[in-house]
Order: sequence, then structure tokens, then C-alpha cells
Amino acid sequence: MYYHSTRDHKCLVSGTAAILQGIAPDGGLYVPEAGRLPKLDYQSICMLPVQEMASAVMGALLPEFPPEEMAQLVANAYSGRFETEDLTPTVPVGDNYVLELFRGPTSAFKDVALCMLPQLVTASRAYQDVQDEIVILTATSGDTGKAALEGFRDVPGTKIIVFFPDEGVSKVQKAQMTTQQGGNVKVCAIRGNFDDAQTGVKNVFAACAEQKLLDGRKVRLSSANSINIGRLIPQTVYYFKAYGDVVRSGRITWGETLDYVVPTGNFGNILAGYLAKQMGLPVGRLVCASNDNDVLTEFLRTGRYDRNRPFHKTISPSMDILVSSNLERLLYLTEKDTEQVAGLMAELKEKGWYQVPDSMLRIIEKDFWAGCCDEASTKETIGRVFADTGYLMDTHTAVAWNVAEQYRAAGGDRPMVILSTASAYKFPEAVLQAIGSEPAADEFDTMERLAEKSGAPIPANLAGLRQREVLHKDVIGKDEILQYVLSYIAK
Ligand SMILES: *Cc1c(COP(=O)(O)O)cnc(C)c1O
Repeated sequence: MYYHSTRDHKCLVSGTAAILQGIAPDGGLYVPEAGRLPKLDYQSICMLPVQEMASAVMGALLPEFPPEEMAQLVANAYSGRFETEDLTPTVPVGDNYVLELFRGPTSAFKDVALCMLPQLVTASRAYQDVQDEIVILTATSGDTGKAALEGFRDVPGTKIIVFFPDEGVSKVQKAQMTTQQGGNVKVCAIRGNFDDAQTGVKNVFAACAEQKLLDGRKVRLSSANSINIGRLIPQTVYYFKAYGDVVRSGRITWGETLDYVVPTGNFGNILAGYLAKQMGLPVGRLVCASNDNDVLTEFLRTGRYDRNRPFHKTISPSMDILVSSNLERLLYLTEKDTEQVAGLMAELKEKGWYQVPDSMLRIIEKDFWAGCCDEASTKETIGRVFADTGYLMDTHTAVAWNVAEQYRAAGGDRPMVILSTASAYKFPEAVLQAIGSEPAADEFDTMERLAEKSGAPIPANLAGLRQREVLHKDVIGKDEILQYVLSYIAK
């Protein structure tokens, strides 16, 4: 099985090469060759224990790895690192099911992919005969940085440097990063906002490539963000896991479809569900839930993608986004026309918007539905669901729950799985307010108040943070990023 760029089908590489490169040389994203996905016997896969399930699904997408090796990589990635042995539990709440994706080492759904990605990267080095050390550079607005640090810490052959905006992350998120342990990790604050950090990191990639700054140094740069196919592949697994769980609960029988509601930002999570459907899992609709940043709602309803709109800072910050990179993969998989995708992406770059043909929208509508939820409704949903069921959810999950209700009202009549992407304790202020109490001045005190009020335990990784020693104190200007990276590499 090969992968090629969404923008050029002749740009064809193996899975391990795609993982090491991250992004295709023409700026496109890697997709399975000709959009063909392996068809799986989903029923037998859904009956496997979760690690075997993960090996089977990922092995089908990355057949270069023999089954024993894939099983080993999965064990390295997940064994003993999640709160629950089944990694991603499916919990019945009211009439719905909540798929809890936040039981990993940093209490965010990105752990599912970022525990696995380092295993795939290091194993791919061997297949591609790469001796160079891989240096991961990441700019983060919060969740990705910490999950990547945990994933890559002490993974042989890798180093990781994370940059975050000094004033742009929450106190808890900052503590999560600055207390990070590991012999190959570096965390640095930037005097600036998230865009400054992101632009700075992109400039490092460009400068190193153009000026050949790394020649002869035996290192190469890579990134951990969700354009890498190695982040998408591990996320297909939990769609199978949830399906098996719901069958076992007796709510559906094999072959009946389930709808999945996904709180969406960069379109990676929901696209993994689309891949699972293409592999044969009986998925009905994939419901794309957005907050006030409703660019995807408009696109999935009208076929017009327009980034020329105000950017809203919300209480579900991981979904505050104007350009959802992984949508490019859906555009390709719909009509399987790389020239068309290259054209649309050029329009987006030049004008900031594009309109897909009606034929394409008709195909997309069969698989997707979309809705959005504003700030007041997000809080109202958290409060109401907690009062009715006792289940405490975070702001991102609440957006999805609210959109699930909209979908139900619009005629959705199948059982629904709502993907829960973060622990409520990552956003304690908003959640505590939503259930009717006032936050404390200090975020850690707010967490404790939330625990008293809700009765839900604080995840161990967050509870212990306050006492942890701060190990990373570097703060630099936004123009000093390249210098910082080069001096760390030289060590
Ligand atoms: C990253 C993230 C999302 C968005 O996921 P995408 O794959 O980017 O669509 C949603 N919720 C939380 C908590 C996240 O961290």
C-alpha cells in the first residue's frame, strides 16, 4: 500500500516515508493511493482486545510493519499509560454514548495519537535507512505541546522542542509543560502570541531547508502536528472500539449503523472516522461540531469554505481555527482528483475562499452533517447534562453534545456516539461556572472546587502538577527561535 499527495498522484511514497516526511514536498497531505482503503472484517476486529484491535487496524494501513512488530509498537505506546486498560471507554449517558478519549497521560484526546506517533517515527527510520536523529519542533496553543512531550520523552533517536506563547496558555497548561521530565525534551516560552510561535517554527523549517543549516549535522527536523498521516492512523482505531462497545451494550446488532458526533478543529479526528467508514465500519453520519468559529458548518452546508471571517476566542480553544488542514484530505477522497484539490488549495491561498462543485457537495452530504454551538449554549449544555445525568463534560465535548441534540431535532434517529476530547479539569473555570459555582482566583483551587462540587476525581497527572518542580524556565523573543533551535541541536 502506498500514499500520495492530495495535490499530485505521482508524488507516491511508502507509509513509512510518508510518516517521516510529515507533509508532501508539494505542500499536499498524504492519502492512501487512489483513495483506496483496505477493507476490513470489522466484526472480528471489533471483538478483539483493544491493543490487538489497534495492531490489526493500523497494520492494515501500514502493511510495511509485520504484525509482530506492530504489536510491539502498540504495546510500547499504550501499555500502562492510560487510566483505563481499554484506553478509550464508551460510557452510556442519557440516550447517547460518550467515547472518552481523554484517559491518557495528559488528559487530552491527542494522547491517543501522540503516544503512537513516536513509535511509528522511530520504526520508520529503520525502514527508510535514516541514521539522522529526528528533532521534533512544535508550536502549541496548549494541548498538542504537552501530549507531544509525553509521547516523545526518552524515545531513542529523537529530541523534541516545544514553543508556547508566554501569556497565551492557561496556568494548568503552562505547568503541564514547564514541569516536563525527560532527557530529550526542551520547552521554551515565546514573548508573543500563538501565531508568533507558529510563524517562528515555520521559519526554522524554511531557513534550515533553504540555507542547508543542518547539512552534516546528522539531524533532521520533523513536526508532530496532525497533517502527519502517522497521527491520523492511530485515531481510526477508537471508532472500531466504540462500535464494538455499543454492540456489546445490546443497543445495536452487527451491521446496524452508528452516528458519531465529533468536536472539530483541524478536521483530523473526524477524518479518521471517515477512514474507518471507508474500511468497512458501519458508520452512518459523521456529525461535525464547531463552536463560534463556524467555518466548517458553512462549508459542509453550502460547499463554500471562507477563511475571511472574524476569529473568535472561545472556552473551547482547541477548536478555535479558521483553516482546517485535514479538510484537504476529504476533498481528495471525495472525487479522487488531485488536480482539482491543487486548484482549490491555490484559491484558498490567493483569495482566502473556494467553492466546491455541487457534485462534490452531494457526495459529502451523504456522510457528513454539521452544526455549531455558541458560548452560552456550551455552558448551558454542561450544566443541564450534569443536572440531569450527573455526567461532567468539558467545553469541547459540550459543543458536540449540543450539536448532537440539533442533529436529533433535524431527524437523526440512530444511536449516537459523542467523542469526548478533554477532561473537564483542563478547563476548570468554564466548567465550574457552567455547573453553577464561582471559580477561585487560582486555577488549581478552581480544580479542587470542581472536584468537590462534581464528585469526579481529578486525573492524577493534573492533581500532582502544583507540587512538581519547574524544569523549564527559558523565555525568548519571537526572533530568537532559530538561534535557540540551532544551539540545542549543537549540544
Ligand atoms: C485538538 C482538539 C480538538 C480538535 O480535533 P481536530 O482533530 O483538530 O479536529 C477538539 N478537542 C480538543 C480538546 C482538542 O485538543
